[in-house]
Amino acid sequence: MSILVVGSIAFDSVKTPFGTCDRALGGAANFFSMTASLFTKIQLVGVVGEDFPADHLKYLESRGVDIAGVQQSPGKTFHWQGNYGYDLNEAQTLKTELNVFGSFNPILPEPYKQAEIVFLANIDPVLQLQVLEQVKNPKLVALDTMNFWIESKNAELKKVISQIDILFINESELRQLAAERNTVKAAKKMQALGPKTIIVKRGEYGALMFHEQGCFFTPAFPLEDLYDPTGAGDTFAAGFMGYLDQTGKSDFESFKEAMVMGSVMASFAIEDFSFDRIKRLEKHEIEARCFEFKQLT
Ligand code: AMP
Repeated sequence: MSILVVGSIAFDSVKTPFGTCDRALGGAANFFSMTASLFTKIQLVGVVGEDFPADHLKYLESRGVDIAGVQQSPGKTFHWQGNYGYDLNEAQTLKTELNVFGSFNPILPEPYKQAEIVFLANIDPVLQLQVLEQVKNPKLVALDTMNFWIESKNAELKKVISQIDILFINESELRQLAAERNTVKAAKKMQALGPKTIIVKRGEYGALMFHEQGCFFTPAFPLEDLYDPTGAGDTFAAGFMGYLDQTGKSDFESFKEAMVMGSVMASFAIEDFSFDRIKRLEKHEIEARCFEFKQLT
């Protein structure tokens, strides 16, 4: 099958204790597409400015990403600047320049409207909703967001969350969104809004899934060398959703396996800046790390 994704396509300027990168390729939908294309076909919706390299769009196409839904508009591409300290779990945002996303009006190409699996990657919840409204009969809809939208578009975000099946969210942002300190209570509050599954990302402390049939935990894969956690959350979601699409399953056991695949893929993302590690990733490396992960747990 395939996955329809909407979200930021960006330039990221990132500083971590292990190095810096200036205007590297990034953005939530870009990270997601790069990784999920290892599992399935992707239909990408987003906007780039005149400064965005055409080569990268061509490269995405070569990985099986349909870019008919990517518009190029006059102006600059979305730019995010962030810093990480030695605690790589939380980014400090220095700049969010929406640029062409500020006036983006997503219009889905006709084939995209038949999508069965939709990932509403991090972007303005108004855009997430506009995309969802154009999809005729989605069977599984997941969403990711962040503090920027929780603070600036809270009501719109809750509206779109009420229409989804799976919410991916960082632990601190879950607490902020639910206005509840306790993670279990916060997850229950979100389930009451609509999504039956809440996946709480806890950085180096792994990920927790709250599902109607129970709770499941995966640790983060222990790594010796890690450089940049940017995009780890989108890569996690890509491994999770890509695995489900590839297997065609959506029961609790498959969600647990998808959590392992999400954790495995996220572990690769942080081994280099931007999605450089994902670019050179080979199938046998994924299989080997899945095996190691199962040994570990
Ligand atoms: P994460 O997987 O959570 O580390 O997501 C990192 C990506 O989110 C970066 O590539 C940024 O370009 C993107 N990003 C940062 N802020 C925003 C925002 N407000 N809306 C959409 N995407 C963002």
